[in-house]
Amino acid sequence: MKGQIIRIISNLYTVKCGDEVYGCRARGKFRNEGLSPVVGDYVIIDINDNVITDILPRKNELSRPVIANVDKAFIIASVKRPELDLFLLDKLICVITYNNIEPVIIFTKVDLLSAGELDIINGYKMYYNSIGIKCLYNNEVLEIKDLINNSIVVLAGQTGAGKSSLINRLDNNKNIKTDDISEALGRGKHTTRHVELYEISNGYIADTPGFSSLDLNMTKDELKYTFIEFEDLECKFRDCIHDKEIGCKVKEAVEKNDILKSRYDNYLLFLKEIER
Ligand code: ZN
Repeated sequence: MKGQIIRIISNLYTVKCGDEVYGCRARGKFRNEGLSPVVGDYVIIDINDNVITDILPRKNELSRPVIANVDKAFIIASVKRPELDLFLLDKLICVITYNNIEPVIIFTKVDLLSAGELDIINGYKMYYNSIGIKCLYNNEVLEIKDLINNSIVVLAGQTGAGKSSLINRLDNNKNIKTDDISEALGRGKHTTRHVELYEISNGYIADTPGFSSLDLNMTKDELKYTFIEFEDLECKFRDCIHDKEIGCKVKEAVEKNDILKSRYDNYLLFLKEIER
């Protein structure tokens, strides 16, 4: 029977198959093959012996927390106290996209903005949506729930951005212990083995925030493909990295304000970081 691992406690795997939940152990052969089942894995289980017999291919795999088949990462970004950090936002988008996960931006603390400040944030929201990255305010609860439906979601973003209050808005049954979520990224009592998926709106949210490491472990070429608005622009040179080349359509688009200046500036900073 096919199911998905939603929890691991020591050697006991909780596997969800439809509406049923099974406690399983992993067959010894995985260890010999250097494999180990992780939360998020789609697996085949033998319900007579309560063992996992096969791990199905993963579409992606994170190491912190250890989790496979993540569909979306919600970037929880405060727009006030602390101010919106576009550098961090774009870097998270880049690293998440590189990991073959869909980034979704959720702006928090919008109610603290003045009318003028709100105009600016609205502008960013429109821009990201226009390039195909979903961007929402944290009070757009129905839309956020829609995005969780049928997905495994990992939260990302700096401490103090409002992860726990977002969870409180979404989780009427308070299944998730928000203390867990609000913990500082990558620290605290969570070991890498202890990630758990909580059910919300027919989907799952991981209880441990992801993407605490923001190293750009990618090539320059890979970097440019994480900026999805660059994709359809045909520069003079096919291998253009949109830096100092002539005939660069990306630079032209920045000058025409078709590409957000801050996005391009951050791209150049990331490029330098990779070159170092
Ligand atoms: Zn170019």
